[in-house]
Amino acid sequence: MSDKVKFQAIKGVRDILPPESALWNRVEQVAREVFGTFGFAEIRLPIFEPTELFARSVGGDTDIVSKEMYSFEDRDESSISLRPEATASVVRAYIEHGMQVLPGNVKLYYMGPMFRRERPQKGRYRQFYQIGAEVLGASDAPGIDAEVIEMLMRLFERLKLKGAILNINSIGCKQCRPAYVEILRGELQKVREQLGEDSKRRIETNPLRVLDSKLEHEQGIIEKLPRIAEHLCAECRTHYDEVKRQLGMRGIVYQENWRLVRGLDYYMRTTFEITAPGLGSQNAVCGGGRYDGLVELLGGPATTKGIGFAIGTDRLVLSLQEAGEGAATGVPAGKGGGPDVYLAWFGAAAQAAAIGLGRRLRDAGFVVELPAVDLKFGKSLGLADRLKSRHAVIVGDDELAAGVVTVKRLADGTQQKLAEPELFSYLRAAQAASE
Ligand code: AMP
Repeated sequence: MSDKVKFQAIKGVRDILPPESALWNRVEQVAREVFGTFGFAEIRLPIFEPTELFARSVGGDTDIVSKEMYSFEDRDESSISLRPEATASVVRAYIEHGMQVLPGNVKLYYMGPMFRRERPQKGRYRQFYQIGAEVLGASDAPGIDAEVIEMLMRLFERLKLKGAILNINSIGCKQCRPAYVEILRGELQKVREQLGEDSKRRIETNPLRVLDSKLEHEQGIIEKLPRIAEHLCAECRTHYDEVKRQLGMRGIVYQENWRLVRGLDYYMRTTFEITAPGLGSQNAVCGGGRYDGLVELLGGPATTKGIGFAIGTDRLVLSLQEAGEGAATGVPAGKGGGPDVYLAWFGAAAQAAAIGLGRRLRDAGFVVELPAVDLKFGKSLGLADRLKSRHAVIVGDDELAAGVVTVKRLADGTQQKLAEPELFSYLRAAQAASE
């Protein structure tokens, strides 16, 4: 008796299949191009790191570290975690490789999977993907914040993401935020009994997070709470005003959102978030901000400042698909949408010729499907149809004798005999017409 086992992907984890994967590739490709034009270079990071790296940077009392990390003991008993985000790794690498000696700001981008044990739902997974970028260096000039946001908006424009909304805020610094947090805590104590359990707990652990609450009955209460804008120190206020002016210079439209505090401990001053349509409740497609103290916190020079963002690639792709961009722009002609050429051959001599022709067509960039076994004519052409090939190129004994191939356009069945150079011109013209 055989035990038949059927495996399934783990809850909250999924496969990204064709043709959707073509849209992923396109998103990543455009990100590389756009980030490249802003002088960013790719950093490839490990998937796992010492647990302590995340505990220190993200913060031990955040949900991410206290509840959501995939942590395990290695064979030498050290604790390792799958990365829940990548900023900590970028900063670790920056310090480890002494990148502070590099001229100007160090501008890095990354893309890859992150892991958080959250409750899965649409747009929220336990293995999800981020495309992120970080600027590290001695300067905290507001122009850097504005340019990073400009780069993001440029990417979304290039991807034709419609309806993206940029929210910005300043959450102050080590000098001014603690005083505000105390004022907030005091006010929250007064309304404690009207709050839900999560918010009650956060009065002690992290009052700022109460501002994130989506609970309907808390909204009216939160609206009346003191706002950080009225408590920023002079430096933070000047910085924030300048970020807004610089966004204006770049023609970037934004909304100020005083409740945008971000969940991670290391953020300070500028925070931003971008929402996109078609995502339901998980509508944040990108989050980011300034984290000037993080490099020092992880053992690097105190003078190094940082700012960055992470785009949720799953959500970005979802939003593009909901807007109908998937089929239209995600799959270039011939790349994932069916082959350009189905190369039908009949008999051993024709197979040899077809293999040679197939190689030359592929070298020229055409997508070629070449049957692996000798098929009957009807079956072979039927397969070409089912694969949604644009053309069938037929190589049989007659064609071999005449030094031509028969090319058939499968959309309307028109066919003609062509020599190889004409075949290439014909296919190129057909490709140009479909683009
Ligand atoms: P964060 O690292 O929490 O600032 O998140 C940055 C972006 O990553 C968010 O705006 C989301 O688009 C995306 N993201 C975060 N967590 C998840 C998740 N569990 N599943 C899918 N996307 C996520």
